[in-house]
Formats: sequence, C-alpha cells, structure tokens
Amino acid sequence: MARTNTFTEPRRRTRRIHVGKVAVGGGAPVTVQSMTTTKTADSEATLAQIYQLAGAGCDIVRCTCNEEEAAEGLARIVPRSPLPIVADIHFHVEMALAALEAGVAGLRLNPGNLRKPEEIKLVAREAKDRGVPIRIGVNAGSLHPDLYKKYNGATPEALVESAMNELALFREVDFEDVKISVKASNVPLMVEAYRMLSEAVDHPLHLGVTEAGPPPAGLIKATAGIATLLAEGIGDTIRYSLTADPVEEVKAGRTLLEALGLRERRGLDLIACPSCGRAEIDVIKVAGEAQEALERLHLPLQVAVMGCVVNGPGEAREADLGIAAGRHKGHLFIKGKIVRVVPEERMVEELVAEAQRLAAEGVEARLAAADPGAQSEADADRSALFQLRGIDANKSEEKIARIRRRVGEEGETQG
Ligand code: SF4
Repeated sequence: MARTNTFTEPRRRTRRIHVGKVAVGGGAPVTVQSMTTTKTADSEATLAQIYQLAGAGCDIVRCTCNEEEAAEGLARIVPRSPLPIVADIHFHVEMALAALEAGVAGLRLNPGNLRKPEEIKLVAREAKDRGVPIRIGVNAGSLHPDLYKKYNGATPEALVESAMNELALFREVDFEDVKISVKASNVPLMVEAYRMLSEAVDHPLHLGVTEAGPPPAGLIKATAGIATLLAEGIGDTIRYSLTADPVEEVKAGRTLLEALGLRERRGLDLIACPSCGRAEIDVIKVAGEAQEALERLHLPLQVAVMGCVVNGPGEAREADLGIAAGRHKGHLFIKGKIVRVVPEERMVEELVAEAQRLAAEGVEARLAAADPGAQSEADADRSALFQLRGIDANKSEEKIARIRRRVGEEGETQG
C-alpha cells in the first residue's frame, strides 16, 4: 500500500500568483528563494551570484533596491537573469517605483518602514498595471511602532495585524496579487504568527525565520520554524536567512523540500551510517570523499556509504546505489542487491563510476550487468568478517553480561 506523505497532502489551498514565470501558491510546488549579498549596482557581480544560486536550485532571487544606482543595476540585471528578480524595498517609495521601471518580477515592501498609505497605494497601482506581484514582508524586528506600542511588543497578533493593514490598502486599489510573510527570529513567535495568518487570508505565504544566524544553529532554527509550518500544510515559498554564502541558503531550502517530498530530487542525496564499532573504514572520511566527487556529477541519486557489510546493504536497501565496507573490500550494491566486490582503496572511484552508469542506463540494466560471482564473494567476505570480529562487534552482549553481574552483586550486598 502506498504511504501517505502528510507533508504533501493535504496542503492549505492558497490563491496562485506568478513571480515572473514562477508560480507561487495554488498547488504549485513550494519554491526556494534567496537574496544576493553583492551591491546591486554592481550588475556583473550580482549576476554571477544569481547564476550560482540558480545552479544550486534557487527559484526566485531578491536583490536590494536601496538607491538609484541599485535600481539602475536592476535594469541591467533583469534582462540577463536566469531567475525572476524581486526588489527588496525599505523606507523609500521612489525605490519601489524605480525597481518597477527596471522591470523586476516582484516587489517586497516592509510595512514597518514604508508607512504612508497614499505611497503604498501608489506602488500597488503601478504594480497592478504591470502585472507585478508584491510581498507584504512583515518583520518582527522592524514592526510598525504603533503596533509595537498597541501590543506591547512584537506579538503574533501584531505581526498579523501589520500584514492585514497593508493588505487592506492594496484592496482599496483592487490589488490582490500578493504574498505575505510574517518573519521573526524567535521560532515559536514566527510559527504562531503564520498559523494565525493562514486562517485569515488565502494569499500564498512566504516562510522564513529571519536573522537565523550562522550554521549550524541558524540552520536548525530555520528548519524548526519552516518545517513545522510545512508539516501543517502551511507555506508556498521559503527562504533560509543564514549568515552564510546565499548558496548555502538555497542548498538548505532544497534539501528540506526534497527530504519532505515537496520537491523532486535534483541532485545527490548522500546517506551514510553514523559508524560504530563494526565499521571497517573511516566512514566520515569516505563519505566526505564520495560526497565531494558525486556532487560534481549533479545526478539525482540517493547514494549510501555504509561502514560495514553486516548491516550496511540491508539498512540502505532503499538507496539507488551504495557501498559497504567488508574485509579490505567494498561491496557495491544497487537497491540492496550486491553487484560487485571492489578493493577497499577503489571504493569511492568505483562508486562514482557506477553512479554515472546507473544514471545513464537505469536500475534494470545495471542489475542485469552485475558480476555473477559478486553475491557469493560478498557472502564469503561477510562470514569471514563475522568469524574475525564475532557477531557482537560492538561488544553489547559482553557489556550486558557485566551489567547483570554488577546489578546482581549490588543486590546481594544490599540484601
Ligand atoms: S553496524 Fe555497520 S552500517 Fe551500521 S552503523 Fe555500524 S558500521 Fe555503520
């Protein structure tokens, strides 16, 4: 029976908007966003970074538009960009209008610092004329001062009210081409705000934990917030706000969505055992070498590196391809079936070569091309390893016997 993925079904139904050619909401695949860190005025450096982000799997990219030179940079970047560009606007209405002139595919307005209703409505009207969507980007750190005062701080209610106030202005000019974010660096606050917002509107939601910080803590905070909401069917597009190269933000976003089954795998998914007393190789080193070599190939495969042949091929039988360490040998397996036994020093090399053949020829063909003697050679190697190391290589049974003796002795002493 097919397993139900509760991350993909049911998802909260939102209206669909388009950021350039990329659909957001309305059942479209959840998209990954990031933001350039170059000066937007430096169009060549910004385009180079956008190409890197696109290569890593980014769907939509945001660039700051904070001064006239940045808007001019956007005019040069937009026609050459492989990704739709959203201009990030704070404080200055004229920068929003200039970005529209530059031809951007979307705007992000911060209601906390762009506060004049007439200006906001002017931008909405201009965006509407051009078919450009706007993100209402509420941020707990730059919440409208009136709301901060009203709620005595940045509460979920305050964040949602800020978004709803902006949406009401847009509606006055009949503009609904809107997605919304209510980000905070505090994960429970951000989660609650999005939950409330998703009850109040059917606009697509852009998820993020703002200023999450550098990895690994930043990755964990962002994942905690974003994944919690995705599990509840909330969220149409995501951004990891890390203090790191933006390529890392995209990799994190893609990895999360692929792991949850919300996006097709487009690259490598390397799984590796955590290693233990049975390991016949340095799993961390071999997995690192395999990852480096395989990532360069950009193949959509799940590949396993397992420290021993005792449990390895069985535990990783769902992987497309894997290798497990035997007695100075590597057991290469496809979908859990041993196809070849290779010398230990060639494990990574053979794994990479097989990955290329597997991607080119498919599972059936590669299983058919298996070395006929591989399974028996692997079985012999495995039983030799058992004899050499014993069944209990982790010495668990020995330890349990010692625990029992110790507990028994204590009991007798106390009795
Ligand atoms: S039993 Fe083998 S596959 Fe499992 S963690 Fe230990 S070394 Fe890795």
